[in-house]
Parts: sequence; C-alpha cells; structure tokens
Amino acid sequence: MAGNVAVVVRVRPQTQQEQEGSRHAVVQVIDDSMLVFDPEEPCLSGVFTGFRGHDAPKRKGKDLKFVFDQVFGESATQEEVFQHTTKEILDGVLNGYNCSVFAYGATGAGKTYTMLGSEKSPGIMYLTMVELYKRIEARKEEKSCEVLISYQEVYNEQIHDLLEPKGPLAIREDPEKGVVVQGLSFHQPKSAEQLLEMLASGNRNRTQHPTDANATSSRSHAVFQIYVKQQDRVVGITQDLQVAKMSLIDLAGSERASATNTKGERLREGANINRSLLALINVINALADAKSRKSHIPYRDSKLTRLLKDSLGGNCRTIMIAAISPSALAYEDTYNTLKYANRAKEI
Ligand code: ADP
Ligand code: MG
Repeated sequence: MAGNVAVVVRVRPQTQQEQEGSRHAVVQVIDDSMLVFDPEEPCLSGVFTGFRGHDAPKRKGKDLKFVFDQVFGESATQEEVFQHTTKEILDGVLNGYNCSVFAYGATGAGKTYTMLGSEKSPGIMYLTMVELYKRIEARKEEKSCEVLISYQEVYNEQIHDLLEPKGPLAIREDPEKGVVVQGLSFHQPKSAEQLLEMLASGNRNRTQHPTDANATSSRSHAVFQIYVKQQDRVVGITQDLQVAKMSLIDLAGSERASATNTKGERLREGANINRSLLALINVINALADAKSRKSHIPYRDSKLTRLLKDSLGGNCRTIMIAAISPSALAYEDTYNTLKYANRAKEI
C-alpha cells in the first residue's frame, strides 16, 4: 500500500431479490486489483460468459475499468478482507500512530457486514481486536499495554454513546489528549465473546429512522475506537506513555451525497444530505489537494470530521473500503461509489 490512504472495493454477493429482479451483474471483477463497471457483454450472475442468444441485442455498457489497491469479489471472506486491509496498518497503531478505516457506500451495499459482520462471521471490528490482543501478548515482555474501546454514533450532528446510552455528548480538543468526547464511556472487554456482545448491543442502540423500517441506521455513522496505551518495561527509567488509537467507522449511506459532483469545488449541503458525510468527503478531497499545495482542511465543518481530526491526514494511515452491490438494480449507487473511491485514491 503506497501513501497514507489505501482504497479498496468490496463487491457483495447479490441477494435473492436482486437475482430474481435482474438477469445480469454490472460489476465484473477481473483480478485482485481491477474491476469493470457495466461491461460491454453482460455477465450472468457475476460470471463473465460472453455468450448471447441470436436475438439478444448487444447491450452498450459504459465498460469502465477501475483499478484500486485491492478488489474483493463476491466470494471474499471476512478474514481475507481483514488480512489485506486493517491488519496491514495495525503495526502503525502499535508504533504510536492513529489510523482509521472507513466503510463507504450506499445503504445495502455491505458496510455493516464488513465492519461489524454477523455472529457467524464477525467483521473487521472484531477481527482487529483479536489480532491486536495476539500481538500484545507476543511482546508483553518488552511492553506493558492497555487496550480500551469506545463505540459511538454520529446521528443528525449529535454524538451518542452506543455502549452507555445517554444524552448527546460534546467534543473538545485537548492539547495533550487530542480530540476528547466528554462523558464517553471506555471499556475493557474481558474476552472475545464479551467484545462481540458489546458490539452487537451497541449496534442495537443505533438510531433507527422512526418512519421507515428499511432505513435502519442508514443515516448514522458508527465509530468504533480502540485506544492502545503502551509503556516500555525498562527497570529504573521512567518511560513515556505512548497512546494511539484506531478508528473503525461504518459510515451513513452515501446515496444522498451521490447526486452531487465530488470533483473540485466543495459540496454544498442539501436539505436531506448528511452533513458529516459531506464534510468527510470534503476533508478527504482537501487532503488530496494539500499534497501539491498547502490548503485549509475543513475539519470543523461537522461532528464526524471534528471527532476524527487527529486520525485523518498527517502520519495517520487511512483505509477506505468502498462497498458495492453488483446488481443492475443498484447501478447508480455503484457507479457513484466507484467514482468517489477512484477520486479518494489520488490522496
Ligand atoms: P449496509 O450496512 O451498507 O447498509 P449491510 O452490511 O447491512 O449493508 O448489507 C446488506 C445485506 O447484504 C445484509 O443482509 C448483509 O448481511 C448482506 N451482505 C452484505 N455483504 C455481504 C457479503 N460480503 N456476504 C454475504 N452477505 C452480505
Ligand atoms: Mg449498515
């Protein structure tokens, strides 16, 4: 992975409904770094066949090739996605750098599956903790280490604790501790099972849109943070405490942001557009521009970007996981997500 931002794409399998509703997939995975969106020849259920009946009209597709740091096809497991993304930046956290991993994409594209997963196949949040404990155990002779977690939600520009729900919480910046959410609870899960339980119950506390059962948590950002405090075990010398955190974020659905052009000028907020998501896109675009010339990074524009100010840019490694559906029914969402992910690659 070159640079500070890696962009990967995960294509989820089609749902039964999608398979029944449309004959062909609009995403064709070529290899582990390339995919074609809307290929010239339709591919049946994700498999490129090249076969057409006599009377089938030749479909004119956009036939766009996209290259990313990694492309995960429908059969990729949770473990594989973890191995090639978050696992590679865990060392950064153990070396004292903040890191962040985002799942970006439209509602239904597979963000929550990738980050949280199910009981049967837990996702990145869980796999990261298991790997972290393993590494800490392996070097416990040299370092003493403490791991704490928090799980919060940004919904409607308010921050809520998902593990100990209470009123909205305020953010402040501490010169030493960095970004601090006042009143946020921290936890030390005693076992992997307890961690899974915490994640599941935290997720149940996510905001559901009252009028639409299908919109469950589609407008909320779930932010899981792991704090690693370390100290060298050297007798007789006072060692500095090193603190770093990893933020794993299941973003709100990007469908409302997608109508806007993400190139160049800053996105403006529409009536229904998620302010934090737009601000995050703007920050990431500004970081891309800042590479060539110094520019203002608009962290202050939303709760999410203020919350992640010390975890984006600078020495922080970031992984953007763009989740997409291969179904023709999700054509626009998938196209918009790929365009956005392609732009984020330039950072
Ligand atoms: P999002 O969080 O982006 O709205 P979800 O993660 O809830 O989307 O995924 C939508 C549906 O697709 C869920 O039923 C989920 O279990 C399923 N799904 C998503 N990704 C995968 C995958 N890689 N393999 C199997 N099922 C998946
Ligand atoms: Mg979700």
